[in-house]
Amino acid sequence: MKDDFDLETLAIRAGTQRSQFNEHSEAMFLTSSFVFESAAQAADRFGGQEPGNIYSRFTNPSVTMLQDRLAALEGAEFCVATSSGMSAILACVMGLLSAGDHIVASRSIFGTTVQLFGNILKRFGVETTFVSLTEPDAWRQAVQSNTKLFFVETPSNPLTEVCDIAELAGIAHKAGAWLAVDNCFCTPMLQRPLDLGADIVIHSATKYLDGQGRVLGGAVLGSKQLMEGVYGFLRTAGPTLSAFNAWVILKGIETLKIRMDAHSRNALELAQWLETLPQVERVYYPGLVSHPQHALAMRQQKSGGGIVAFDVKGGKEAAWRVVDATRMLSITANLGDTKTTITHPASTTHSRVTAEARVAAGIGDGLLRVAVGLESIEDIKTDLARGLQNQA
Ligand SMILES: *Cc1c(COP(=O)(O)O)cnc(C)c1O
Repeated sequence: MKDDFDLETLAIRAGTQRSQFNEHSEAMFLTSSFVFESAAQAADRFGGQEPGNIYSRFTNPSVTMLQDRLAALEGAEFCVATSSGMSAILACVMGLLSAGDHIVASRSIFGTTVQLFGNILKRFGVETTFVSLTEPDAWRQAVQSNTKLFFVETPSNPLTEVCDIAELAGIAHKAGAWLAVDNCFCTPMLQRPLDLGADIVIHSATKYLDGQGRVLGGAVLGSKQLMEGVYGFLRTAGPTLSAFNAWVILKGIETLKIRMDAHSRNALELAQWLETLPQVERVYYPGLVSHPQHALAMRQQKSGGGIVAFDVKGGKEAAWRVVDATRMLSITANLGDTKTTITHPASTTHSRVTAEARVAAGIGDGLLRVAVGLESIEDIKTDLARGLQNQA
């Protein structure tokens, strides 16, 4: 397939392979292994002289279709699909780093990623320095002679801070390190980190790529050379994506463009409405003119995305009242779903962080995060207004 199709076309057609039956919709290949015509063919497949499938821990046609489609969307040479977002991050670091290497990571990354870097990798001799996402000088100062990897999420969760990917890629490359961007919040429809100079893109496909909260999945993308190491770890260690999950995500991606546009539209309208309410202290959303990095975000992203955070006046009590007054919104920390979700970060996703560290990170007791879904925006507002208006 040519590279110059638009993203909405690639999302629907890139990577499609047809079997002998010439099916129109992509097939799901539920098989653990593949058979050979002869002993000689088996030997050639195992020896790598003949391309083709052997065993679904290595390759599977449904998984390959998803990998090729995602690679086209991110503009990557190669994609390695994994069983979850966390196994994508694990495969990335296990495939590319060794004991004695050093990571510089943003402090504002997914909590489990902080645990993986700070606790588990540390036991295997890989140290991580955590720095502020928005202070390029802190990244420069954190570099050591053994620094191999920079790791960020932009926009960050839950405060939607944005970093300049091109600038950070420059700092990483000068230090002889790779820049990995967890592109879960934007998806390639809103932001393509490789075009901006990043070396690796990570996805939790569990979120917007599936888009309907059905399955877990993940992906690592980058050059063929880098992905060889990642794939080598995956086929040996085994956190491979299942054919079923690959197929669900593959079909989910076909509507990614219209979903991301609609998530962003709803989120912007919600953020603008929240800003007008006297009960709301502050709204965090990159699409708002009041966002401190609005200009950078609008240069780097096609739109603000679906995540909105806001501080309610009255602290935890007032914030919990808003959560408990909802009748439609789902009270859950998940995101990237057609259904709108609401969470109180201080007592859920960030409850393991000390109160002091939370305040330093700007995650106050009155903060709420809404992952805006695709329901009617009027219904979403009505559901939030119930708890907000009680507390005037
Ligand atoms: C959810 C999430 C992950 C982890 O993905 P799983 O599929 O749950 O393993 C990683 N990064 C970000 C930004 C996420 O939101």
